[in-house]
Amino acid sequence: MAGEAIQPGRGGEKRNAQTSASAKPARRSSYPAVVDRLMEQLSSLPGVGRRSAERLAFHILKSTNDEALALSKAIADVKQRVRHCDVCWNLTDHVPSMHDKQAHADDGGEDRGEGADAPRCELCRDVQRDRGVVLVVEQPKDLIALEQTGMFKGIYHVLMGRISPLDGIGPEELTVAGLIDRIDRPQANPGGVPVREVILGLNPTVEGDGTALYLMDEISRRPSVRVTRLARGLPTGSQLEFANKAVLADAIAGRQDVR
Ligand SMILES: [Zn+2]
Repeated sequence: MAGEAIQPGRGGEKRNAQTSASAKPARRSSYPAVVDRLMEQLSSLPGVGRRSAERLAFHILKSTNDEALALSKAIADVKQRVRHCDVCWNLTDHVPSMHDKQAHADDGGEDRGEGADAPRCELCRDVQRDRGVVLVVEQPKDLIALEQTGMFKGIYHVLMGRISPLDGIGPEELTVAGLIDRIDRPQANPGGVPVREVILGLNPTVEGDGTALYLMDEISRRPSVRVTRLARGLPTGSQLEFANKAVLADAIAGRQDVR
């Protein structure tokens, strides 16, 4: 009976009878069912708790029809139009045009088997970039962060995660095969350009390091390709005394000549 005390008050007994079979006790709510459903959906978003969901739902209820529909359309559009790039797995809303299909064929793209209708991101289509240098990252958001520096002129490969045996994630669950394919077959890389350098830009975590080691091992069997990794060490503006041991060890190992 103690567990059922979550739903006190009028109609409680009846409600209990209906929901006692479900694992999660239903919260008593005076909102119309559609509002409850909206709050439930909102609270499933990361960082949004029950209270925030309630606030957001009220904001949506108060907004005009046009505003609310613009929000729902933005969500629908993102799901319908955003795809992963066929080459690097970056996010893109690119829809191949006839011109792109010709360029794709000129790149030797017909050999890829996926066809010329596969989406290709803005970075992979940019002929100004150095397509011989591929920076490997875990997630599209890492790519965005690096791109915002404006310092990197090569192209990318997004792994869509990192190797994590404890979570059952091996190289097969990631886009490792696509990366190796780009290295082994220039026609699988944009512009048919052979990859000459792979920069490992994985996060400095246990899994990130493990993934980097795995990739180093795979790529080192291809002696024509140079493998580097992003420098690590003390962040600008930090103080030695506050840096942790791993950061300091990396900083010492990655020391640079000053003259
Ligand atoms: Zn791409």
